[in-house]
Amino acid sequence: MALERTLSIIKPDATRRNLTGAVNAKLEGAGLRIVAQRRVRLTTAQAEAFYAVHRERPFFRDLVTFMVSGPVVAQVLEGENAVARNREVMGATNPANAAPGTIRKEFAESIEANSVHGSDSAENAAIEIAFFFSGLDIVG
Ligand code: GDP
Repeated sequence: MALERTLSIIKPDATRRNLTGAVNAKLEGAGLRIVAQRRVRLTTAQAEAFYAVHRERPFFRDLVTFMVSGPVVAQVLEGENAVARNREVMGATNPANAAPGTIRKEFAESIEANSVHGSDSAENAAIEIAFFFSGLDIVG
């Protein structure tokens, strides 16, 4: 398996509860290296652009409102099979269905306020990393 990069976001429900370090410990414990990280407060336009693929979903407006409700921590994770490995340690979208030990099982508040975002493919990872970071920001 090749060394991959993926985009992770620690969502406002987690930053609000001061869980950035706890989430990072889970990521690092899963063998992922945090090679870039920045804490930002997204504007509505930025959140809409990031989640544009979900524009037609019934929860789109709620999701955007949630994502601008507090700071987020965007990060680039690097590791073997990083996209899949991150999805594994994140757990299922709905914390009720997430496996024990996953970030969402331990920290998520609801299907919406589920603590973390992770790219779902290598193709989307490249697009999402470029949304937040330039090449110079990423130090492998
Ligand atoms: P993910 O890849 O596991 O994050 O899940 P999706 O790509 O399907 O959804 C994106 C994000 O939208 C999720 O992480 C949740 O924050 C939110 N979301 C997903 N499904 C629902 C839902 O049924 N209701 C609400 N309110 N939010 C949802």
